[in-house]
Amino acid sequence: MLEQERDFALETVRAAVQICRLVQNEITPGRWDKEDRTPVTVADLAVQAVVSRALEERFPDDPLMGEEESKELREPKWSDLLNLVTQHVHVVRHERPATTKVLDWIERGQQPIDAGRRYWVLDPVDGTKGFLRKEQYAIALALVERGEVLLGVLACPNLPNSYDVDGAAAGHGQLYVAVRGQGAQRCDLGPGDAITSRRPMRVSPVTDPAQAQWCERVESSDKNHDVTAKVVAQVGMTAAPRRLDSQAKYAVVARGDAVLYLRHSLSDYREKVWDHAAGVLVTHESGGRVTDIHGRPLDFSRGRQLDANQGIVATNGVLHHRVLAAVRDVLGHLGK
Ligand code: AMP
Ligand code: MG
Repeated sequence: MLEQERDFALETVRAAVQICRLVQNEITPGRWDKEDRTPVTVADLAVQAVVSRALEERFPDDPLMGEEESKELREPKWSDLLNLVTQHVHVVRHERPATTKVLDWIERGQQPIDAGRRYWVLDPVDGTKGFLRKEQYAIALALVERGEVLLGVLACPNLPNSYDVDGAAAGHGQLYVAVRGQGAQRCDLGPGDAITSRRPMRVSPVTDPAQAQWCERVESSDKNHDVTAKVVAQVGMTAAPRRLDSQAKYAVVARGDAVLYLRHSLSDYREKVWDHAAGVLVTHESGGRVTDIHGRPLDFSRGRQLDANQGIVATNGVLHHRVLAAVRDVLGHLGK
């Protein structure tokens, strides 16, 4: 089931990886911290254009919920950026589309979504800050129907294949793929981003918190890291956090390199669907469990945000209840 969709998603995300690598290599240190968002914008927009166009050709009836929009890019002052985006689309599509076509492909990601039907969800470059730092980022594509994620593909081009004792990196990155009810697989990427191996993936069986690794965001607002540290200590975990940008955190839990990814906000921030859809299914199909911080299942049927949920708790399953209890306790003490 969904074999064609799965193969399509893998191939399309692989093309997106090529664009991202190209753009990332063009980033020169110092350029982006002067508020020049150009490199990341090129990657975001070109990937959304390419994925949207591929979908239009292959599954023309399926709408796309993509993070990006084309409105600003249509203004004459951004014509140089639009030309750059078009050039990067050309790299993987072997056609030279008109700039107006590229704008239309990007805008397809803003189509109204009927939550009762199936649709695709795309985060073209998740973890923008990691992308700019040349650290972790992800390309995330998912297929959703009636609030349920049916298929998820996650590319983590900079994620090491494994962590050795020093946490040192190895490999050319990975793709992770999951189909609901059919398990999850990890694919190692080799030179030229060819898939060199493909194997099933399982979460860590660790039950002793003292033996457990855990991960969290690099970015922290409202003392998030302090609160998470309290929760983790209450669960009995003693390891230092692995801080990663993007849905690479889900991948690290899914493949067994950490037992927990905790995300919460002391403000009223609502999570975006494209930041989670693919990662949640990859974790779930690897035997893990994902809920919000109150233990509620994630409800993907609420439009572009997870409006019925707050924060994220992704675990290997075994430690889920303990983490939820600790979150309740720590946030309760903070009056949240
Ligand atoms: P991460 O790499 O895990 O830090 O997640 C990056 C994503 O966080 C971005 O794609 C944003 O959609 C989302 N984001 C932006 N602001 C916040 C916030 N205040 N709290 C939680 N997530 C946010
Ligand atoms: Mg994102």
